[in-house]
Amino acid sequence: MTSVWRRSATAKEQSQGTAAAMRLASVSKTYGEGTGAVTALDDVSFDVPRGSFTAVMGPSGSGKSTFLHCLAGLDRPSSGHVYLGDTELGGLKESALTAVRRERIGYVFQAYNLMSALTVKQNVTLVPRLSNTAVDESWLREILERVGMLQYADRRPNQLSGGQQQRVAIARALVTRPDAVLADEPTGALDTRSSQEVLRLFRQIVDETGQTVVMVTHDPVAASFADSVVFLADGRLAGQLQRPTPDQVADRMTHLGNW
Ligand code: ADP
Repeated sequence: MTSVWRRSATAKEQSQGTAAAMRLASVSKTYGEGTGAVTALDDVSFDVPRGSFTAVMGPSGSGKSTFLHCLAGLDRPSSGHVYLGDTELGGLKESALTAVRRERIGYVFQAYNLMSALTVKQNVTLVPRLSNTAVDESWLREILERVGMLQYADRRPNQLSGGQQQRVAIARALVTRPDAVLADEPTGALDTRSSQEVLRLFRQIVDETGQTVVMVTHDPVAASFADSVVFLADGRLAGQLQRPTPDQVADRMTHLGNW
């Protein structure tokens, strides 16, 4: 691709080796108190390697969303620390944390969460515009081109398929050149073909631009697109697979409980 992506990848490469892109250090998260307390994460430590694609899997209720929310700074851990590069999120005031979330973390939801009244282009540039940051026109074109949505830049979400809407959401996540993109069941609402397109796009973004992606999924095929899969069970780490195949992932999941 063009130089802008390369520049961003080089910057990431320069800082490679100094730290993980993101890190959970002995993170526990308990919701509620007393007899009603639920431990969603129990002393979890995990490094997300820079420029990698990581899938997070586990049975329902195993702590996957809490894991992602803690990484994103959407949930504060009850104990332990969360790092984005060298920044410890727990040490930030709410306003600084909001800025980090907006500028350094891209988030992709299962339900796309696009604004129906806005065009593709307006949706992609909404977050920077809210913080009065100008988006370079050539950068915007480049991102839309990369996700295959340049020709639909002036359409509204209801004129797009689910897969196309998710690709717009991915463009929106990338526009701020985030340190990492976190995706919560991004293919959960898509048919098989659109899912594959979205997963191939994540793979391409990681391979060609050095972007870091963490994706929660319950689908072994989706997980097989990642470089590694981390498994959770009852809020604890329950193993990891490198270069996973769908069969290996499915086999591991059957040993973790109901899913
Ligand atoms: P998963 O994404 O793997 O389904 P979650 O992280 O959503 O798991 O939830 C882990 C546990 O924490 C579950 O028992 C869930 O009911 C509980 N939990 C999650 N969020 C809350 C909350 N806001 N209040 C109370 N309990 C919660």
